[in-house]
Amino acid sequence: MTQGAVDQALAGQASMTSNTTKYVYFFGGGAADGNGRMKDVLGGKGAGLAEMTNAGLPVPPGFTIQTDACREYMRGASNADMNAEMLIALERLERLQGQKLGQGENPLLVSVRSGAKFSMPGMMDTILNLGLNDHAVEALAKLSGNPRFAYDSYRRLIQMFGDVVLEMGKKKFEHIFDTIKEREGVKYDYELQPQALKDVIVEYKKLVKKETGKEFPQAPLEQLVAARDAVFRSWNNDRAKTYRRINHIDDWLGTAVNVQAMVFGNLGENSGTGVGFTRNPATGEHVFFGEYLMNAQGEDVVSGVRTPLPISELERVMPRVYEHLRSITWKMEKHYRDMQDFEFTIQDGKLYMLQTRNGKRTGLAAVRIAIDMVREGLITQEEAIFRVEPNQLYDFLVPRLVEKGAKVEVLATGLPASPGAAVGQIVFSAEDAVKFHNNGTYRTIILVRGETTPEDIAGMEVAAGILTSRGGMTSHAAVVTRGMGKCCVAGAGECVVNEAKKELTVKGHIYKQGDWISLDGTTGRVIAGQLKTLPAQPDDPDLVKFMGWVDPVRRLKIRANADIPRDAKQARLFGAEGIGLCRTEHMFFAEDRIGHVRDMILADNEKDRRAALALLLPMQRADFEGLFETMESLPVTIRLLDPPLHEFLPQRDELLVQIARLEETKPRSSKLKELRILLARVEELHEVNPMLGLRGCRLGITFPEITEMQARAIFEAAVNVKVRGGDPHVDVMVPLIGSIEEMRHQANIIRRIASEVFKEKGSTVEYLVGTMIELPRAALTADQIAEEAEFFSFGTNDLTQTTFGISRDDINHFLPAYMKAGIFKHDPFATLDQAGVGLLVKMATAKGRNTRPTLQVGICGEHGGDPESVKFCHKIGLNYVSCSPFRLLTARLAAAQAALQELQGGDIHTNS
Ligand code: ADP
Ligand code: MG
Ligand code: MG
Repeated sequence: MTQGAVDQALAGQASMTSNTTKYVYFFGGGAADGNGRMKDVLGGKGAGLAEMTNAGLPVPPGFTIQTDACREYMRGASNADMNAEMLIALERLERLQGQKLGQGENPLLVSVRSGAKFSMPGMMDTILNLGLNDHAVEALAKLSGNPRFAYDSYRRLIQMFGDVVLEMGKKKFEHIFDTIKEREGVKYDYELQPQALKDVIVEYKKLVKKETGKEFPQAPLEQLVAARDAVFRSWNNDRAKTYRRINHIDDWLGTAVNVQAMVFGNLGENSGTGVGFTRNPATGEHVFFGEYLMNAQGEDVVSGVRTPLPISELERVMPRVYEHLRSITWKMEKHYRDMQDFEFTIQDGKLYMLQTRNGKRTGLAAVRIAIDMVREGLITQEEAIFRVEPNQLYDFLVPRLVEKGAKVEVLATGLPASPGAAVGQIVFSAEDAVKFHNNGTYRTIILVRGETTPEDIAGMEVAAGILTSRGGMTSHAAVVTRGMGKCCVAGAGECVVNEAKKELTVKGHIYKQGDWISLDGTTGRVIAGQLKTLPAQPDDPDLVKFMGWVDPVRRLKIRANADIPRDAKQARLFGAEGIGLCRTEHMFFAEDRIGHVRDMILADNEKDRRAALALLLPMQRADFEGLFETMESLPVTIRLLDPPLHEFLPQRDELLVQIARLEETKPRSSKLKELRILLARVEELHEVNPMLGLRGCRLGITFPEITEMQARAIFEAAVNVKVRGGDPHVDVMVPLIGSIEEMRHQANIIRRIASEVFKEKGSTVEYLVGTMIELPRAALTADQIAEEAEFFSFGTNDLTQTTFGISRDDINHFLPAYMKAGIFKHDPFATLDQAGVGLLVKMATAKGRNTRPTLQVGICGEHGGDPESVKFCHKIGLNYVSCSPFRLLTARLAAAQAALQELQGGDIHTNS
């Protein structure tokens, strides 16, 4: 191709391509075709490289093959145009560098790097030193005067190429390498002499031939094309797919491929490579933070083979380079107006930037950085509100490790499965955990397992934290601990757990039962020894300040689900503006009550039932008084008895065993007679499908005296508190309504009891009677139901259950298959299904308000604390969401973000 043709094509004339897509974007020589805003096209890495090039920073030149090409590759479409553009870009790179790929006395070598729109650290593949072959390695040895470096680079290429492109895995290469290291008696890779490295190369090439039937490709262009395609394919490796599923990243986005001139950190003691952050990603502290290694390449820093040095050390060793790095990274931070995570390489004393991106950070750091950046004038207060992910605020509500001044030896990094911190003594089985907890041998226990199973629940319950060596973010350990609000590090692959021998081997240490370790579930780190912990800090000054910006912005009110005064107090501390759901049955399980509850259920006539209820009345009344007092004048929504009655009775199997035993020992005892009556009643109440059985308002309709007792307890409590100077706001909520007739039946009882109580006490309180909408029929007839109901609260757990026809308790049997097949993107019980269940919510709200414009509408249930679902609730104009106390901060922030997005005219980001 002539120079003119090249230039013409580069100018975007596309004279030789048949469509208008531009596949390849060049960067280098002081300018780039693309820029930092083009993440969709160039991927995050490519956009960053372009942006840095445009800013005049020292970036090795190269080109980015855009994400369209990946999508076409995955579809199996023709790639002739892309190939042609790639060759033009390669020539341009060769001209700029005055080198030829893998040829001549000064061969050009490149890296082939993946990079998608959203960063997926370490999930896809990168190949370094591409272009090396038997010839080029000799040229490189001669040119650099450093044969060790040249052979080391070549053996790295064969290994990476074998692993990523030829899909041979790493193990066999590592085995060869280790064998030769051992033979030579050296500990570190860089200690191997040139001849030994040559031997490694010979063995590597033999291995490639043996495994693939072909020689390691010597033609540089063949290497390049194969590597590019392998990077495209790495988009769909299992790691990447799992990562996308957890992080809700679309599968069709695809990755870009960056081909970039190599710079060498492994050229000797004047070279090196490192990674860093412009601020501390764990605490947010405004300090330069990072690690590096001299005489190293690529992933050596993070691979754990050698221990990297703190970046401050670089200031001592190479002060000029250090200063340069600092000024560049500060400039980048200012430019991007966010904390940067960067990668650099020093070749013979000269600094090169290889990557920059907005750095991932803990919730603590996110809040601190947002506040600092507002103070520094980098961002506005409104921008700050978007700099924190709602879920990250959870970090403030769980304990954390005290690292300042402590010796922190990170043993392994697994998945941050459940946030918080735990410091304790390790045990290797659930039984041991229970035993040593109960006999007090260990004060705090960390349960260490390969992975956990449902049988381990009891052990998990008593443990302060869980560590597993296998399993992902949705493994049993991860899911269960998040539910328990307990710290968990899952899938820490570097930890070898021998459950039989009761040993944990990691980083060359062997830990035995009773040894101390520290876990950080927020970052996934496993740390040696016994660090101190700081308790949760909902009153952290940074957090308080941040929430002070958040709250005035939102329109949605945030209430809490709380059943007892203790939880209500906690909820107020975390900012609840009322109780959206008090489940009265939770009070029924207390030891002093369950007996009366059973008497009530077992009664075979109304008189006996009323007698039992009369005993429960004062207890419920006292509970409600506590709640009203704690919540002062905030609304308290109390739901009448909801679950099927047999939940309060002993299990049938247990009864049978007890009866059998008594028949043996005391066949004439009155206890036996009692148990037989109990068994008969248990069998009577048995339901095939209790979730769809005698529960919710069906209880209060079958046994009106239950509703009467609960209503009386509520109103007597409210009046009592009012008489003492309080100002209770009571919402009485009837569960599982499906028709206006049911609603009217229960509302009549409630209103009658209210006026009776008010008359008796000579005082009144304001109250509302409303319902949960949790059956599709209720949603469909919401206009009618609103004639009686003064508020709606969507019970989205049950509504999801009844709309999908999926039992919440059984979904785990098929959820994994549904997620894998892409039928569900999320667990519908965790994130509201907007298209179906959400539509019912929206429709019922409109119908209800049509009948009763003042209708108060909210949701309660798990979805009330899920950011996407909260944003949806804002969008469709609900009055409030109610969630568990620990989700309150998250819900408050999500609601504020939704309100701001709406103001800014942007689409509210939801998952629909
Ligand atoms: P990841 O996305 O997994 O971080 P990268 O594409 O950033 O993968 O590559 C990993 C590492 O390889 C980089 O941090 C850098 O150290 C090294 N590397 C990549 N390209 C080059 C290059 N052109 N010259 C020198 N080192 C490189
Ligand atoms: Mg990188
Ligand atoms: Mg329900």
